[in-house]
Amino acid sequence: MSLRARLALLYTLIVGGILLLLGMAVYGAVSIVLTNQVDHLLERSSVQLIQRVRVGRVGDLVVVAFPELDISADVFYQTWARNNKLVDASPNIRWYDRPLDVNSINFGTPVYRDVVVERANLRVLTVPLTVGLSDRIIGVLQVATSMAVVRSTQKVLLIILLIGVVVAMTIAGVAGWISIERALAPLDAVTQTALQITRADDLSRRIPYRGPPDDEIGQLIHAFNQTLGRLETLFNSQRRFLADVGHELRTPLTVIKGNVDLMRRMQCVDDESMDSIEDEVDRLTRLVGDLLLLAQAESGKLPLARRTVELDTLVFDVLQQMNVLARDRLQLRLGEIDQVLVCGDKDRLKQVLLNLVGNAIKYTPQGGEVVVGLAKADNKARLTVSDNGPGIPAEDLPHIFERFYRGQKSRTRSKDGKGFGLGLSIAYWIIRNHGGQIEVSQREPHGTTFCVWLPLAQGECEDERSGG
Ligand code: ADP
Repeated sequence: MSLRARLALLYTLIVGGILLLLGMAVYGAVSIVLTNQVDHLLERSSVQLIQRVRVGRVGDLVVVAFPELDISADVFYQTWARNNKLVDASPNIRWYDRPLDVNSINFGTPVYRDVVVERANLRVLTVPLTVGLSDRIIGVLQVATSMAVVRSTQKVLLIILLIGVVVAMTIAGVAGWISIERALAPLDAVTQTALQITRADDLSRRIPYRGPPDDEIGQLIHAFNQTLGRLETLFNSQRRFLADVGHELRTPLTVIKGNVDLMRRMQCVDDESMDSIEDEVDRLTRLVGDLLLLAQAESGKLPLARRTVELDTLVFDVLQQMNVLARDRLQLRLGEIDQVLVCGDKDRLKQVLLNLVGNAIKYTPQGGEVVVGLAKADNKARLTVSDNGPGIPAEDLPHIFERFYRGQKSRTRSKDGKGFGLGLSIAYWIIRNHGGQIEVSQREPHGTTFCVWLPLAQGECEDERSGG
């Protein structure tokens, strides 16, 4: 059964159930009220009738004819003596010589009962007649009235209630069916779009929705569209990644193949070709290593040998090492430096520093300046690498931490043959794996500043304690 049919049925049954309970309550209440009215009438009549009863001289039961009684015409009564002799009866029932309620005639207390006499529904009150205040029973009075009006009222009420329940259930069912169809229509759109995506292999499609965005369906569609967007980005980046890797692999492989062909044609192993092959193999090895590292870091599975690292000492080391690269081309100097301890993998953090300082040296022209600084700010370590090079264009800034992303000016294969556009991605993911952040900003009037935030070491590092 479809969801729509199930919901409509549930809706109908709930409405029907509620109305049925309500109907039963109304029917019960009306029946009780009407029966109480009849019982009061019988009780009032019996009180008047008892006043006429006297005890004769020999202790027998005598019914006095006067005073005139104020008893309704549809009330019947009989007075029975103890020897089951009918002493008196109302004129409208004189012809009937049996007790109105045979079963209650010998009861010692007043009893109300519904009986059928000559196919007529009657309510009978049987009252024992006693002498004065004593308990001696000298006879029985039975007062009755027809229940025809009560029964027909009950019947009409029952019919009205049943018709009401059926009509209400039908209306609820139809209204539920229509409103549920409207409410579920967007789900149909979700299914159709999902099928189209599967058929056309097109993740750029989105589900249109014109209803309120914050209801359940709106939220579902929003979440689905978000998932589609995320999947689209992921697939696109996967495709781009494959294309980039293919592109990066093709160049060195072409160079290697060209050199091998040349050596075969020349029928000799020449040193120049061998050097070129070696360079390209090194480049390929570096690329594969970088990709592996990136894959581990992106999935959060980068093995980190965490120790307490003196970041200031690490900065000194890197600066010394990089001074060789800077030589007399530009000035590489230390800015403000604080003593800072962080908890992390020394080699990985060094790799980040080498990437950032290496880039600054690589992209800053002759005569420029690269400044490295280290400070404590907001209870964190802040490491900055600033240069006064050409800077990164604003349109490149949001992308430079993406894999294989290279700025406009660096798109051709770099002269040193080293850059793959992976350095900043690796730095980003290493810092993320250390619980830190890396930011980039333009420097006035020109230049770039990279800023790395790392949590300060608090007590011993986890790995140190566990002896790792
Ligand atoms: P690669 O240096 O191998 O191209 P990176 O991931 O290290 O790759 O850098 C990505 C891009 O960011 C570079 O191609 C370059 O355009 C830009 N970039 C990085 N650092 C700097 C810098 N200090 N000054 C100018 N541009 C930079």
